[in-house]
Amino acid sequence: VPEDHTMTQTRPTILIADDDPLSRLFVRNALEPAGMTVAEATGGQDALVKFEALAPDLVVLDIMMPDMDGYLTCSRLRTLPRGKRVPILILTGLDDEHSIAQAYQHGATDFITKPVNATILCHHVRYMLRTNNVLHALIRSESRLELAQRIARIGNWDWNPKTNRLSMSNELCRLLGVRPQDFGGTFEAFLNLIHPDDRPVVTGALERLVSQHTPCDIDHRVVLPNGTDFIIHLQAEGVREEETDELTVIGTAQDITERKQAERAIHQLAYYDSLTGLANRVLFKDRLSNALSYAERYHQHLATLFIDLDRFKVINDTLGHTVGDRLLTHVAERLSESVRQSDSVGRHADHEPTHALARLGGDEFTILLTALPTPEDAGRVARRILEALAHPLSIDGHEIFISASIGISIFPSDGATVEALLKNADTAMYHAKEQGRNNCQFYSSGLNAAAAERLDLENELRRALEREEFVVFYQPKLNIHSRKILGAEALVRWKHPKRGLVPPGVFLNAAIDTGLIRPMDEWVLREACRQVKAWETAGLPPITVSANVSNSLFHGRTLPATVADALRDSGLNPSQLELELTESIAMRDVEASVTMLEGLRTMGVRLSIDDFGTGYSSLSYLQRFPLSRLKIDQSFVRDLLTNENNVKITRAIIAMAHSLNLSVLAEGVETEGQLARLREEGCDEVQGYLFSRPVCAEDFEKLLRGDADARTAA
Ligand code: C2E
Ligand code: MG
Ligand code: MG
Repeated sequence: VPEDHTMTQTRPTILIADDDPLSRLFVRNALEPAGMTVAEATGGQDALVKFEALAPDLVVLDIMMPDMDGYLTCSRLRTLPRGKRVPILILTGLDDEHSIAQAYQHGATDFITKPVNATILCHHVRYMLRTNNVLHALIRSESRLELAQRIARIGNWDWNPKTNRLSMSNELCRLLGVRPQDFGGTFEAFLNLIHPDDRPVVTGALERLVSQHTPCDIDHRVVLPNGTDFIIHLQAEGVREEETDELTVIGTAQDITERKQAERAIHQLAYYDSLTGLANRVLFKDRLSNALSYAERYHQHLATLFIDLDRFKVINDTLGHTVGDRLLTHVAERLSESVRQSDSVGRHADHEPTHALARLGGDEFTILLTALPTPEDAGRVARRILEALAHPLSIDGHEIFISASIGISIFPSDGATVEALLKNADTAMYHAKEQGRNNCQFYSSGLNAAAAERLDLENELRRALEREEFVVFYQPKLNIHSRKILGAEALVRWKHPKRGLVPPGVFLNAAIDTGLIRPMDEWVLREACRQVKAWETAGLPPITVSANVSNSLFHGRTLPATVADALRDSGLNPSQLELELTESIAMRDVEASVTMLEGLRTMGVRLSIDDFGTGYSSLSYLQRFPLSRLKIDQSFVRDLLTNENNVKITRAIIAMAHSLNLSVLAEGVETEGQLARLREEGCDEVQGYLFSRPVCAEDFEKLLRGDADARTAA
C-alpha cells in the first residue's frame, strides 16, 4: 500500500459501529496496518457516545444493529456539531436500491456491501478521508477568505462582457449596500451602485480593460441610500477562458475610506504645522524646490523671506506658553494677510503668483514670493509685513507689541538651491537683528541699497503731496492738417527739492504701491481743469485738456464725484475735459465700467483710450464704451517709416476707429516724415516732440498765445 500523504501527517481515527465483534475485528485488521487507529462501538447508542468522546475522522456503520439501526445512527450523528462534516460509510448486506437510497437520505457519505474485501475497504476509507480533507481545507480556506475579505472590507466580482452577467461576492454586496437577492446581476446594475459622477471613470477603465487589456486600477465613490459615502478601490483584470477564448473580467473592490482619511491625517501631520495650520518646513522646502525649477525655466526672480519675531522668548517666558501660542497664531494670520495682499497687487496680473507661507518652528516663519517683477519688490512685501505686525495685539487682556526681523534671499543672485536660499535668508535675518531688529535686510548688500533708495522714495513721495511738490506739465495736441493746438495733455511731474524735476516713469510704480496714485491723480485732474479755465478767462482760445486716469482712480468708485467737483470748482465746460484710460483698465470689470463711463459721458466728459495697440482690446468690448478717441501708442509711430508691419497696424487701427466714429490721435510724433505718413493714413490729430515737449503751464501759455497770434496774422 503506497504511503498516503494525508495519513502520514496525523493518524486518522476510524470508529466502527457493529454489534458483531467479528465484523469489528475484520474492519480493525483491514485498517490498522494502513496506519489508522480503529475504535469500536457495539451499537448505535454506543457509537454516538464514542463519537462525542473520540471525535473520529470517519465512521463506519453497520445497518443491522439491535438497539438503533445504522440509518438512525447516521441521522443522529449528523445532528451533532462535529457530525455535520464527518464522512460516514455504511456497511450493508442489502445490495438493493432502496436501502442504498435510504443510506444517502440519512446522510451517509458512501456505502459498501458485505461481504467486504479488506483491500477494497481500506482503499475506500482512505479515498473518503482524502476527499474529506480536501473538502475541509477548501471550506476552511473559503471561510477564511470570507473573513479576510470582511476584515479588509474587500469584495470580489466577475463580469462576462459578452453575456453582461456580473456577479458580486456577499461581502461586496454588503459594501455596496445591496442585498445579494436584490442585485440585478448585470453591469448596469453594478454601475448603478456607483456615485453618478464616477460612473464614467469606471466605465472608461473597464472599456479599456476589455479593448486594450489595460488592468483597471481606480478609486471611485459610493453613496449609500442612507447618505454615507465612502471610497472604493477597484481593481480588475481580464482572464481568457482557454477553451472558449471568452473574456471574463475578475476584480476586487475595497473600501479604502479609512485609509484615505488616515492618509489625509498623516499628510496633515507630515506637512503642516499643527498650531497655526501653516505649511511646515518639509512642505515649504518642497514648494520652494518646485518654484525654483519654474523660475529657472522662465527666467523669473524668486525671493525667500526668513522672518524671526523679536524678543518672542521674553514674551513666552513672562506671559506663558498659552499666550505665546496664541500670539504665534495671530502673527500667522497677519502674515497670511500680507502675503495675500502682495498677490493682488494687480500690476503683474499675468503672472500667476504662488506665494507660500510656512512656520519652520518656534517663532520662525518663511515666505516664498514667486514671479517678482524686480528683486526690490520683495523688500516691499517685507516692509508691509513689518507694518502689519506693528499694530499691537490684544491677547487675554494683554496688549502685546511685537516686531520682527526679516532676511531676504533672491534667486538667482543669492543661490540656486533650496538650501542656499534658506541659509542666506537666515543669514540676512541675523543681519537684520544686528541692525537693531524690526527691519529687513537683503542677503546681497547691493539690493539693500536699492531697497533703501526705494524706501526713501516712497517716504518722500508720501510727503510730496502735502508739500505741494507735484506740478502739471502740458503737451499740446494738434490737428494733423492745420497744426492748430486743439488741446493739451496734463502730465504730472515731481519737483523734488534735491533731485530736481522727476518724470512719472521714476515714481509711478512707487505711487501705485503706496496708494498715493489716487490722491495724486485727483489733484492733477483738478489742477488741469483750473488751469485750462484760467487761460480761457485770460482771453486765450478755449482748448480741451486730457488727464490720465490710473487703475486705482478708475476702480476707486469716486471718479465721477471727483470729475464733477473738478468741473464745478473750475467752471470748465465738461466737453473740454477728456479722460485718458488704458485698454486694460476697463477690461477688468466690463459691466461696472460701462455703467460708470456712461455716467461720465452723460455729464458731457469725453473719454479716450491711451496707448492703444499695446493692450488686448477687442473691438466688441470697445464698442460698448462711449468713447470719443483712440490714442495710437508711440511704439507704432516710432518706426512707422521703417517697419511696414507698423504701417499695417496703424492703418487698421485708424480704419477701425473711424468705423466706430472715433477720432484718432497719434502719440510720439517726432519727425515730419512720420507726420506725413500719418496724414496719408488718415490720422486726425497728433502729439509729440515735433511740436513741443510737455512744458510747464507758463511755457504752454506762450505756445498757446503764439499759436493764436499766428492764426490771426494769417
Ligand atoms: P502717456 O499718457 O502715454 O503720455 C505720453 C508720454 O509720452 C509722456 O511721458 C510724454 O512726455 C511722452 N511723449 C510725448 N511726445 C513724445 C515724443 O515725441 N517722443 C517721445 N519719446 N515721448 C513723447 P511722461 O510725461 O513721462 O509720462 C509717461 C506716462 O506716465 C504717461 O504716458 C502716463 O501714462 C503716465 N502719466 C503721466 N502723468 C500722469 C498722471 O498725472 N497720472 C497718471 N495716472 N499717469 C500719468
Ligand atoms: Mg496719456
Ligand atoms: Mg500714451
